[in-house]
Amino acid sequence: KELYLIDRWGAGYFDVNDDGNMTVAPLQERGRKIALQDVVNDAREQGLRTPLLIRFQDLLHHRVRNLNLAFASAISENKYRGVYRGVFPIKVNQLREVVEEILDAGRSFHHGIEVGSKPEIFAGLSVHTDNDSLIVCNGYKDDAYIRMAMIGRKLGKKVILIAEKLSEVRAILRIAAEMNVDPLIGLRVRLSTKGAGRWATSGGEDAKFGLSTSEILAATELMKQAGKTSAFKLIHFHVGSQIPDILIIKRAVREAARHYAKLRKMGHPIEYIDVGGGLAIDYDGSRSTFHSSMNYSVEEYARDIVYNIMDVCDDEKVPHPDIVSESGRATVAHHSVLVIQAFGSIEKVTPGPLNGAHDDHKLVKNLLYTLEHLTQENLGESCHDILQVKEESQKMFDLGLLNLDVKARVETLFWQAAERMQKIASRLDASEVPDDITELSKQLVDQHICNFSVFQSLLDHWALGGLFPIAPIHRLNERPTQQSTLVDITCDSDGKVSKFIDLSDVRDTLPLHALDDKPYYLGVFLTGAYQDIMGDIHNLFGRVNEVHVFLDDDEECGYYLEETIAGNSIREVLSMTQYESREMVAKLKAQVDAAIKQDRLRPTEGMRLLADFERGLADQTYLTFG
Ligand code: PLP
Repeated sequence: KELYLIDRWGAGYFDVNDDGNMTVAPLQERGRKIALQDVVNDAREQGLRTPLLIRFQDLLHHRVRNLNLAFASAISENKYRGVYRGVFPIKVNQLREVVEEILDAGRSFHHGIEVGSKPEIFAGLSVHTDNDSLIVCNGYKDDAYIRMAMIGRKLGKKVILIAEKLSEVRAILRIAAEMNVDPLIGLRVRLSTKGAGRWATSGGEDAKFGLSTSEILAATELMKQAGKTSAFKLIHFHVGSQIPDILIIKRAVREAARHYAKLRKMGHPIEYIDVGGGLAIDYDGSRSTFHSSMNYSVEEYARDIVYNIMDVCDDEKVPHPDIVSESGRATVAHHSVLVIQAFGSIEKVTPGPLNGAHDDHKLVKNLLYTLEHLTQENLGESCHDILQVKEESQKMFDLGLLNLDVKARVETLFWQAAERMQKIASRLDASEVPDDITELSKQLVDQHICNFSVFQSLLDHWALGGLFPIAPIHRLNERPTQQSTLVDITCDSDGKVSKFIDLSDVRDTLPLHALDDKPYYLGVFLTGAYQDIMGDIHNLFGRVNEVHVFLDDDEECGYYLEETIAGNSIREVLSMTQYESREMVAKLKAQVDAAIKQDRLRPTEGMRLLADFERGLADQTYLTFG
């Protein structure tokens, strides 16, 4: 447990049981613990193999409640005179079941949704049923988008259109008049406060979105001219996702609250301050301002927002607004776990005899000598010796002076010596370890080959260097023996995970077990935010299999699989690139017929091959084992 820092990033949801299996408690200490391995087995019985995305719907429920309760208690502690109205930004995870679960969990708190595009408003309108909760509309808008929002207004929903540009204010006022609807308008303020971390550019004066102070005043003028001063309901800002440092949040909130207060004093009837997203996740458990972490809790976040808005409003003597936050990552990241299978490994050190023979090649004799006389004292010198032998053997091989058996023996002994040197070095203080040994140790890393695609399932890792906790989901009572990285099955050297979480830095390797004859499963945790939808079909690896787990005390195991969603078939991903399966089968049949005509295939065999091809199109895109 300590090795994988489970207690640090697990937020009370993840643990290890006496059998060495990773468990999930979707309701933290209040609920049952489910072994991930059991869910993997159950899914397999239903025909779904790894890679498998497991969603814990109760955990989602728990996150929504926690966020709302954190704001409720901050509001009551501070005797704040507004309420909290959270919205879930559906871009973070658009899956209908996820959005519906969040709305269900948030019903008593009137938790709404945020949409950021035209397709998202269609989705949003269809799943939103509580007219006391908000639909906040961000992103650039055309007339059709605005019209959809107005349909929501006609249905009695509080749909607030956040203008990103002045031209949008004009369009909203025009379309609202045409449709005879009272619009609700929010303005996104371009704050001078800049975010930090990977998504810092969402804030600051050069941000892509938002209105400058003069544009805000011009927008209010447009509303006035249209006789719709009362439409101005909300001030919005968003300084970026995954804000690691609470100081940035406090600063941004105060700046936005000041805008609100000044506008309020000018007579604009604004009711809400929307603080956007940014509430972070402690992916590495370091509780620091590193980009994969955060130096605050959800409770502190809520308290600081409530307090700072209140402080500015009291100072300016304006009413306390209702508070909206658009927390996506913090709502959904924990609820899904990606389980992948390591089905092979590439190991540097392979077993081989350490005894010499009188007719051994000179290079082999040199290596055996170094190995025999290796001590802590001659570590650096021995390292130079083996590096020299390796270089010499490569040169001789290039000149055709070395046979393959000698080359193989040299390589085996080289890595055995390197491993022994690394062991000795591990007992020394870092400052005493020669640089060459440190370099050599980096090359000693093994690789576990895993049945998944980084491009489909962990895009943030590939594109932005985002870190996710990764650990075996079983064998956790057995000490791992290898330092490894993960490689995926795409034909791309970028398709790998070679950066892992650490408390003080980033690790280059993950301690893993040697593979045996049973499947070896790894969990990639905190993957519920952004990863699903952003993944692409590089190498035509499609969506992975998915199961949704619900707690149920009536079941002996304490849970049931409510829904299983099969990943993309080969046919489906091919059709995305304009390969139509009927046409493909016809083309292959023509080739089979030609081969039969030329007597290269017997007709029955040809028909069997064709049937195999056709059947194979229904298979999943990932590799199948056992
Ligand atoms: N709101 C807006 C406008 C965003 O752009 C984003 C994402 O960057 C979010 C909300 C969600 O942010 P987070 O996932 O950090 O809560």
